[in-house]
Amino acid sequence: DPTAPDSGSRVEASAALFERARAVTPGGVNSPVRAFSAVGGTPRFIERAEGAWLHDADGNAYVDLVCSWGPMLLGHSHPEVTAAVQAAVSRGTSYGTPTRAEVELVEEIVGRTPAERVRLVSSGTEATMSAIRLARGFTGRDLVVKFAGCYHGHVDALLAAAGSGVATHAVPGSPGVPEAVAAATLVLPYNDRAAVEAAFAEHGDRIACVITEAAPGNMGVVPPAYVDGQGFNAFLSATARAHGALFVSDEVMTGFRASRQGQWGLDGAQEGWVPDLMTFGKVMGGGFPAAAFGGRADVMALLSPDGPVYQAGTLSGNPVACAAGLTTLRLATDDVYSHLDRTATTLADAASEALAAAGVPHLVQRNGTMFSLFFTDEGVTEVVDFAGAQAQAQHRFRAFFHAMLDQGVYLPPSAFEAWFVSAAHDERAVEHVLAALPAAARAAA
Ligand code: PLP
Repeated sequence: DPTAPDSGSRVEASAALFERARAVTPGGVNSPVRAFSAVGGTPRFIERAEGAWLHDADGNAYVDLVCSWGPMLLGHSHPEVTAAVQAAVSRGTSYGTPTRAEVELVEEIVGRTPAERVRLVSSGTEATMSAIRLARGFTGRDLVVKFAGCYHGHVDALLAAAGSGVATHAVPGSPGVPEAVAAATLVLPYNDRAAVEAAFAEHGDRIACVITEAAPGNMGVVPPAYVDGQGFNAFLSATARAHGALFVSDEVMTGFRASRQGQWGLDGAQEGWVPDLMTFGKVMGGGFPAAAFGGRADVMALLSPDGPVYQAGTLSGNPVACAAGLTTLRLATDDVYSHLDRTATTLADAASEALAAAGVPHLVQRNGTMFSLFFTDEGVTEVVDFAGAQAQAQHRFRAFFHAMLDQGVYLPPSAFEAWFVSAAHDERAVEHVLAALPAAARAAA
């Protein structure tokens, strides 16, 4: 019974699998944040998932507020996505040739975003890596500006002060990244316009691009700040342009998630800024490894085979991944985003009420359909950058996380993550989360 209060507490099977995993895989996981290092305890080994629910190896059920870290916009095992995938698999799984599905997926992305040309890759990391190579090739410059707390995948040049996974593990960058590569990255505080102006004043003619999460979700949700009606992205776009640098908007997390048109749809379309390059991932793969980068036609024209900037991939545009992504995007209508928005509001409000009732200082920040909780000190009214995000009472998050888990709610196992909902988070799933909140809030007190 997924509604039993202790439904998250049996862990024997997961613990046994974790032990086997640790014997053969570093940390027992294939991506660090899955290991529960920040919260302690046994990572749950999931055997199947349906709609809003995850089912683990011990037979526990959880309402999933991670959604595979963003991709599962429609919920798990959506029947139409599953059918499209099964049909694609029955036609063969990879050909290494162009296919109709690739064209249709790219047309869908071009139709929703300002990107004029798009190339498919297999992970968000590849997308950002390729985008900055292209920006460097286009401008003939080497320096990249990024923001502390923004995560763009584990690209060497972008690992400095990279938020979530890296922040969780308290490693500022990573051994193995050559100093020369790190030295070509300028890391600035997010939302800090003076720092951006100073960096451009000093290095303007050497900066190839500014890359930013379109709205950061990897230090918790930190929306771009507005000053005199101008958002931080609009400011970055204008500043980069004034210095002949490119503005790269990383929409791997926000793309087709924060809104139907991603972050650009939330503010770019209104404010009139257009990124020179954009990166996408997560939702556009519908739960399969598919990602993309795209942007201005004149910049994208530099890519091989037409241009000299090399980029390639054996499984890029994989037909099964394209079928999942295309079906997901076609089903991601305005109604889906309205549902996500309402659900996020309900959950965020309820979490805040429960924590207030338990006397736990906290902050809820929203960006489109994404939101996160910060266990801040009393009196903090806003988190605008990574330093603010790091000043959290992490012990409170740990207690809250485990109390939710024990009641059958799967939150991101880190205080630096957005919570994700899906079209499948129906009344029953939402009620289940609401019922768990008061006890979790008391545990965090
Ligand atoms: N960019 C952003 C904003 C992300 O959130 C992520 C992953 O979380 C990435 C890039 C990297 O994507 P991937 O994990 O598919 O390599």
